[in-house]
Amino acid sequence: AEAALVAAWRGPGRTADGTAVAILANVADGVSARSAADAPVEGIGLFRTELAFLDRADEPDVDEQTRLYRDVFEAFAGQKVVIRTLDAGSDKPLAFIEHPDEANPALGVRGNRIGDDHPDIVRTQLDAIARAAEESGTTPWVMAPMIATAAEAAQFAELVRQRGLTAGVMIEIPAAAILAPAILAEVDFVSIGTNDLTQYTMAADRMSAELAELTDPWQPAVLALISQVATAGAQQGKPVGVCGEAAADPSLACVLVGLGVTSLSAAPAATPAVGAKLSTVTMEQCRAAAAAALATSSPALARRAAAEQLDG
Ligand code: PEP
Ligand code: MG
Repeated sequence: AEAALVAAWRGPGRTADGTAVAILANVADGVSARSAADAPVEGIGLFRTELAFLDRADEPDVDEQTRLYRDVFEAFAGQKVVIRTLDAGSDKPLAFIEHPDEANPALGVRGNRIGDDHPDIVRTQLDAIARAAEESGTTPWVMAPMIATAAEAAQFAELVRQRGLTAGVMIEIPAAAILAPAILAEVDFVSIGTNDLTQYTMAADRMSAELAELTDPWQPAVLALISQVATAGAQQGKPVGVCGEAAADPSLACVLVGLGVTSLSAAPAATPAVGAKLSTVTMEQCRAAAAAALATSSPALARRAAAEQLDG
């Protein structure tokens, strides 16, 4: 019965009692965006621009970047598209950006921090995004990865708004989650990256198989931080999405909705199961599952506590 429900699910995302929760796709380029357009998604929640340039020796110029972004925007014309500026460094080094030799690259110059030494790279990318938006007649939301402080958020938002675009940041560093009200005050929206937020909250490398229990996004400490961000977003009337792997787990997606998250973005193949599950539970069940999971002391107990509320 469950497989049939997943196969038949067409969206849009909503709970059984009708609360809308946009179900969005994570994409990397025009090819993956066009393929995502065949999935039952309502837009793009995360366009990881760095993935298109991993094999490049030289920085792509503004024309080439414009073509790439336009390709993706046009695949979702008239729908929501969230594009992320280059998240280079650590697990995704780009050959055309010089990275200092670092003992701990995950804690080093990565993501938005590359703008400190290379402001031109950020400006060129934002120029290309603005041109692609204009040429395709779309209004993408633009967000920065690896933001730690409200000052960084404000600086990025200014660059984005100078180009007439909507500005947001990713919440994937615990400091940003802890001070979410101050970060949200600087931007129009935030998106929680649960892969890195879990890594940095638990001090456990996201690539380590040995530390899988610690890097599990069901960790109650991670849920508590997500709860703080969602509450701050609701207080300021600003969208709070999730675009990490957590949004691909149907039960966890319902918990995130119960915590107050307003959109879910995942690999396109994962979205039907998420949408189908959400369609079977009420907002009250999501809230009860979130409260129950938050009150536990391990991922296993959080899963069990949530299942008791969600699986009728
Ligand atoms: C995340 O950290 O959860 C995220 C969505 O970004 P990435 O996986 O690209 O680091
Ligand atoms: Mg990340």
